[in-house]
Order: sequence, then C-alpha cells, then structure tokens
Amino acid sequence: MPETASADERPSIGVIGGGILGLTAALRFVQAGARVQVIEREERVGGLVTSFEVGGSHLERFYHHLFRSDRDVQALIAEVGLADALVWPRPDTSVLYGGQIYGLDSPLDVLRFTPLGILDRIRLAACLAYLKIENNYHRLEGQTAADWIRRWMGSGVYQVLWGPLLRSKFGAYAEQIAMPWFWSRVHLRSSRLGYVRGGFYRLYARLAEVLAAQGARISLGTEVRAIRSGDGQVEVETSQGTEVFDRLLVTVPTRLFMRLAEGLPDDYRADYDRGDFYGAHSVILELNRSLLNGIYWLNVNDPGFPFLAVVEHTNYMPAADYDGLHVVYLGNYLPMSDPLFQEADAIVLERFLGALKWVNPEFDTSWVVKSHVFKAPYAQPIVTIDYHRHIPPHQTPLPGVYLANMFQVYPQDRGQNYSVRMANQVAKDVLDGLTGTDRTSAGSI
Ligand SMILES: Cc1cc2nc3c(=O)[nH]c(=O)nc-3n(C[C@H](O)[C@H](O)[C@H](O)COP(=O)(O)OP(=O)(O)OC[C@H]3O[C@@H](n4cnc5c(N)ncnc54)[C@H](O)[C@@H]3O)c2cc1C
Repeated sequence: MPETASADERPSIGVIGGGILGLTAALRFVQAGARVQVIEREERVGGLVTSFEVGGSHLERFYHHLFRSDRDVQALIAEVGLADALVWPRPDTSVLYGGQIYGLDSPLDVLRFTPLGILDRIRLAACLAYLKIENNYHRLEGQTAADWIRRWMGSGVYQVLWGPLLRSKFGAYAEQIAMPWFWSRVHLRSSRLGYVRGGFYRLYARLAEVLAAQGARISLGTEVRAIRSGDGQVEVETSQGTEVFDRLLVTVPTRLFMRLAEGLPDDYRADYDRGDFYGAHSVILELNRSLLNGIYWLNVNDPGFPFLAVVEHTNYMPAADYDGLHVVYLGNYLPMSDPLFQEADAIVLERFLGALKWVNPEFDTSWVVKSHVFKAPYAQPIVTIDYHRHIPPHQTPLPGVYLANMFQVYPQDRGQNYSVRMANQVAKDVLDGLTGTDRTSAGSI
C-alpha cells in the first residue's frame, strides 16, 4: 500500500533528485517542519558532482571549482559547517594555440598573447574590461556571442580565441549562443577558484547527514518512472513502489520531467519541451608525475584534438591529498548521440593518450597508473538566443508539482551556486503554496 500523507499531521514533500538542488531544497523543507523524502536514482547523492575515491580523497567525475561570485553555495557550505575546508588558490589557466601554451589569466597575459596583433589584443582587453563592469546583461539580449565578439573584439580574436572555445562547448550551435551567456562567463569569473579540500562530495555527504538527522528519508537507487497529480495529492511511481505526497519538487532535466509527468497540456509541452542538450565525457588519468608543469586548466584551441580541455587537478589541489598521484581530466561536451559515448573505453584511451604528446612531448603511457572514463547525459544546456523564452516556470500545470533544474538557470552557465540559489527560492514558493500566505522566509509551517 502506498504511504499517504494522512498518516502524519505534517505536510509531506517529495523531492526527485539528490543533486545539490534537490538536497538544498530538502534541507529548507525539513527546516520548515515538513516530512521530506528525497528520491534518487543513483546509489549515491551528488548528481553531476558524483565522486569516487582517489588516493583517500573524493574526486569529482567531472572537474569542479567555484568562483568568488558563487555566494549562495558558499553560504550553504558555511551553514553545514564546512567553511574551513573551502580553499581559494589562484591556479594557472592557459590556452594551447598553434602548438604553443600561453598563459591567459590576467589583463597582462592578454596583452602578451602574441597570436593576436597588438590592436586585437588591446580591443580584447578593452572588451573584457567592459564585460566585467557591465552589470546589466539585458542590454546584450537578442545578440549572439559570435556576432558581438566579431563586432567589438574583432574577427581575429573570434577566430583565435573564442570561436574554438564556443565550438568545443556547443559544437554546431557555437554561432547561435546568446551573448548574455558569454557576458556571464566573463562577468562572474574570478581568478581565485574555490574547492572543498578533500572533495565537494564532503558537502553532499554532510547535507545527507543533516537531512537524515532531521528525519528526512533519502531513497537511493530508486528511479522515478511516472508522476501523477490529482485529488490534492501527487503520486510518484518508482522502481521501489509508489509514494504519495502533498507537494512534489522535481529537479531532473526538463526533458526528463516531460517524459515522467502524465497529463501535461500540449501547449505547455510545445512551449517548454524544446532545445538541445549536450552530454559530458571525461577521461581521468591518475599519473605518477605531473603532465602540465604547473598549469591547472589548459583550453585546447588547436584543431584535431580529441578533447577540449586538459585539467590537471593536482596543479590546483596538492597531489599529497591524493596519495601523491597526479590527477588529470580530459574533458568533452558533445551531442548525446555522438559515437564517443558508445565507444569502448580502451579505444577512447588509446586515442586520448596518443594526443597528449602534443600537450607535453615527454609524456609516456608508463606515467599512467590508472584511468577512468565517465559519461553524463543532459550535462550542458545549449543557450541559444531564444533559450530564455522557453524556460518553464517552477509551478507546473500539474497541481502540487514544481520543477526546478539547472536548465532553468539563465544567463549564467549552470553551476552548483545557481542550483543552490534556485533551491532556496523554489523551496520558499512551495512552502508559501502550502500555507497560502506571503511568507518571506522559511520558518515553521
Ligand atoms: C563537465 C562539467 C563541469 C562542471 N563544472 C562545474 C564547476 O566547475 N563548478 C560548478 O559549480 N558546477 C559545475 N558544473 C555544473 C554542476 O555540476 C551542476 O550545475 C550541478 O551539479 C547541478 O545540480 P542539480 O542538482 O541541479 O542537478 P543534477 O546534479 O543533475 O541532479 C539531478 C539528480 O536527479 C537524478 N535523477 C534523474 N532522473 C531521475 C529519476 N528518473 N529518478 C530519480 N532520480 C533521478 C540524477 O541521478 C541526479 O542525481 C559542471 C558540470 C559538468 C557536467
């Protein structure tokens, strides 16, 4: 028999997804006195920040760091008692162009970037300075990043610097990406990058602990298969049985929500079940020595490489945290239909390792102690210029069902910070809806 809300006086709230958005919202719900159940398909919490162990520390399957502007997630880290673990090194970011590595971390680096002529460098520096101080991205709405960059920075700058980066992140959509998205990438970035020493998983594990201590249920390894709403309650069919809630918050990608939710009106689907999403692919190498000589992040702007970035995590966090191993990510964003997602790991590895000679001519496969391949669907929204017109509101047409996910983040690139911010906001909306009052903060229901 499905459990019903009537067994307890407190309102029951279900949360689908145990990533940062679902866990943060669940925290706000238990703090307000609700009965909460988080339903997560995987065996661990963390979502896209899911981690595994390397040399005694947790390591993310996909590279992760924070910017200084990521205030909401910093507040959450402090709230759960991990502020002391959050460190802010200033690692080296560079670009590989024409077979050479160039630092590209500061205005001085920009002025020294010799693949561009001096006038292009000055235009580039001036435009970056403008985007840093421009607070109103609405001024840039309706323009593509490609057009804006060509117009203001120059076509040479687009060709050498931003065109390859946009193509590596958005493939065939590179020319259609919204300028406000590019604005946010420049405006909100900091050269100091934040990391929870020992791995972001510590934040997720702590959130799960706090939730359990406050009486929330976290059902791992439980896949949601259908969502139905009626008679003032929401029914969730899962791989482990059916649950019934007073309210439901869904944090899975919009496209998946559209497949799970029954009875959505056609015009809602037509408005919001749109657009494309890329998957993420990551090869992680545990090496017995350093690959990049001090560089943390290397954007690959030369054609012909099988990966878009080489990220040596242990040029950011000390190798000692990983038992002396040097950890390198080779990353890609690609359409989910790309053959790379189907290829055997051994074949992928051979091709990727072969290309590392072009990054460091001394590289030898004997440096590789262990390797891993990870893939995630729905990892990167494709933020074209009309993207913002097709972001669904949090309240869905199904009574009692709310949708909040990283595909509703705009214009910023998705990130843990924006999921935390959205979770705080939508939790307030859900709680307001329960009490029917204009609450301004999440106190007791
Ligand atoms: C390559 C890469 C690099 C990134 N770099 C950074 C970075 O440097 N800094 C940063 O802050 N962010 C970064 N991000 C973004 C960050 O990972 C996301 O913004 C954040 O993890 C989103 O959290 P979420 O809870 O909104 O979604 P998710 O983490 O996607 O959580 C959704 C959850 O729903 C679960 N789920 C899905 N379907 C079902 C179902 N049917 N039933 C039950 N459960 C289901 C999933 O398993 C998942 O756990 C990066 C992402 C990628 C892919």
